[in-house]
Amino acid sequence: MATIKKYETDVCKCEDYAAVASLLGSEEQCAERSVPHIPGTVLIELDGTIFYPEGGGQPCDLGTIAGIPVVDVFLAKGTETIYHRLQVAADTELPTVGSDVFCKLDWDRRLSHMQLHSAEHLLSGLILRNWHGVNKGFHMGSDYATLDILFPPDGDVKEFSQGMLEQLELDANQIVWENIEVATHFCTSADQAASHPLRKPLAIDEGITVVCIGGGAELYDCCACCGTHVPSTGSIGLIQLLKTENYKGMIRMTFTAGLPAFHNASLRQRITDALCVRYSADIGSLMERISVQEQKNGAVRKELYDLKKDLLREEAECLLSEWLQGTVDGKPLASIGVYRYTRYSADDLQALGHAVEESLPGPVALVSVREHTAILLSPGAPHAGNLVRDYANMYKGRGGGKAKLARAIFERAEDLEMFLDLIEKHLRA
Ligand SMILES: [Zn+2]
Repeated sequence: MATIKKYETDVCKCEDYAAVASLLGSEEQCAERSVPHIPGTVLIELDGTIFYPEGGGQPCDLGTIAGIPVVDVFLAKGTETIYHRLQVAADTELPTVGSDVFCKLDWDRRLSHMQLHSAEHLLSGLILRNWHGVNKGFHMGSDYATLDILFPPDGDVKEFSQGMLEQLELDANQIVWENIEVATHFCTSADQAASHPLRKPLAIDEGITVVCIGGGAELYDCCACCGTHVPSTGSIGLIQLLKTENYKGMIRMTFTAGLPAFHNASLRQRITDALCVRYSADIGSLMERISVQEQKNGAVRKELYDLKKDLLREEAECLLSEWLQGTVDGKPLASIGVYRYTRYSADDLQALGHAVEESLPGPVALVSVREHTAILLSPGAPHAGNLVRDYANMYKGRGGGKAKLARAIFERAEDLEMFLDLIEKHLRA
């Protein structure tokens, strides 16, 4: 049965009563109508619906029917029947076929879709009129939408300059402030639809809806579209262009509008307020203050790097002098020399390892205590990487390396100690 599309005649109706035409709960019932069955859900068909089914780049409406959450709305393939998928639990009381049910839209979601979709028409119309760019693709997310624009290959314009984007954003918002009618014309044939100055060719030949923003010399857009749109441009509220990027030989423009644009602006406002407090700056001087702070941070990082380099050079001299005396850590040479450091990271110790690797008295482990990591050094035999590969995983360690230098990383300090103990015993044997 064809469902009456109430959203086409009253796009602002967010609550309604409708009669239940059918309920499909079982796999067999769904198979009979060639619609997908999903366990834990029931499909409900109404005589007429305010719920927009997914289509034309616009996601479906959500809300409740008889107090039961609606999780999907779709037009069954090759039919004019709209199904609403209800999320049901064991104790859900389903309405009976023929009864009237109360339907309620998630209005914030619908309004956001209407605002984003109408903004898409407006931007597409302006881009075509100003620069002959053609809208070749449209995608709508929950709080933004994208347009794929193709500029004529033989034209001068290849991409959006900053000036073009600023002009486009201002022009679009000016049309919002003028509160121009967004008219929807239902056409029974392609010929009737083609009597309108359409922006792009028709994809279907009957039951066509043509959406026009303005008219005559002030016609900003005219396009066949089955989605939901605001009744006049003022309801779009605000249009914000977010970014442009190259996409498959076209330019993908990301924008937001209306309620999502308001949330986006509020979030950015809170972030910039917090940054202004953190940097003791007003909005006009914030970027300069951040830049000064970044320069200071860079200088401190450089100083730290130089100091660490000096420290590691001293540590290397210490090791080399000990090894010259034939001792390790003040004691006679064991099967492996273990040095524990609390101050250094594993990366620091790897640099230290490279500084001393040519003068090793035998196998040596440089241990970063805070990272539970050992840098194993060897004159070549035994193979440091093989020692890590063969023994580290016994204590949930990981890592690896080459013959002269390898890294063994552990989750716990005690695992690292047991690993070192095992290596010591293995090398002594
Ligand atoms: Zn549309």
